[in-house]
Amino acid sequence: MIQDISPYEFHNEYTDRAPQPGDTVFVFDGRTVLCREGSDESNLFPTVADVSCPASALQYLFRISETYCYLFLPEKPDISLTEVPGCRFVPLMSLRSKEHTVSAFAAMTAYHLHTWYEKNRYCGRCGSGVRLEHDKQERMLRCPVCGNMVFPMIAPAVIVGVTWGEKLLMTKYAGREYGGWALIAGFCEVGETVEDTVHREIMEEAGVHVNNLRYIDSQPWGSDSNLLMGYFCDVDGDPAIHMDAEELSRAQWVDRSEIPDMSDNISLTGHLIELFRKGKEK
Ligand SMILES: [Zn+2]
Repeated sequence: MIQDISPYEFHNEYTDRAPQPGDTVFVFDGRTVLCREGSDESNLFPTVADVSCPASALQYLFRISETYCYLFLPEKPDISLTEVPGCRFVPLMSLRSKEHTVSAFAAMTAYHLHTWYEKNRYCGRCGSGVRLEHDKQERMLRCPVCGNMVFPMIAPAVIVGVTWGEKLLMTKYAGREYGGWALIAGFCEVGETVEDTVHREIMEEAGVHVNNLRYIDSQPWGSDSNLLMGYFCDVDGDPAIHMDAEELSRAQWVDRSEIPDMSDNISLTGHLIELFRKGKEK
């Protein structure tokens, strides 16, 4: 899956380290990320030397093995990096392939933090209009006026493989960037357990009851600020699907023998579908 980047190691502990010329820089423009043209996996993203911007516009993110990664985050939008020689913006999701696992994981995780930093420039509690300041010890923003502390936002969500004997409930989303096969999925609501979310989402999207929930694995999915939790469960009673046409364009039972090969898919959804295809869902 996307987080399986061995032999590389992800280190997300915060440090106040100053950027060095060879460090990696993530520059985002909407849901695109700046990449070096014609580069391979080892140096896909520009360095501090490539972007040549003030150090104050670079926010430390994390380290992958010995590669220190920063985010281009100017204090004011008056510095722009839309034109860096030898680089161009590519869609974040285009990195989603097995050849790019480390790059995809790094870019998606950087995008998750980018989303949080972008949404938290100023204090939303006291409205003083003073910029939040980054703590020196941990990843946390603090308001210098009222002391409000803001921590990274992670949205928990579930992905569920609903089974009915030799069949798996597969879906396609309505009106989403990703058009491939998916499974029932949704965000946890306030006050719910993760298991409550599984039952509710399946009922909302497909209108069936389930039992025998089995937790399988989890996955950080930074492009949507998610922490995904994957389950299998079995239909309980009537398997007739009542699809939510606002969320989904398709929802159907697919026989194990007709499940598409998702072994190249680095998502938790692909992992769950592959487990079912290989008869390992129990
Ligand atoms: Zn404040």
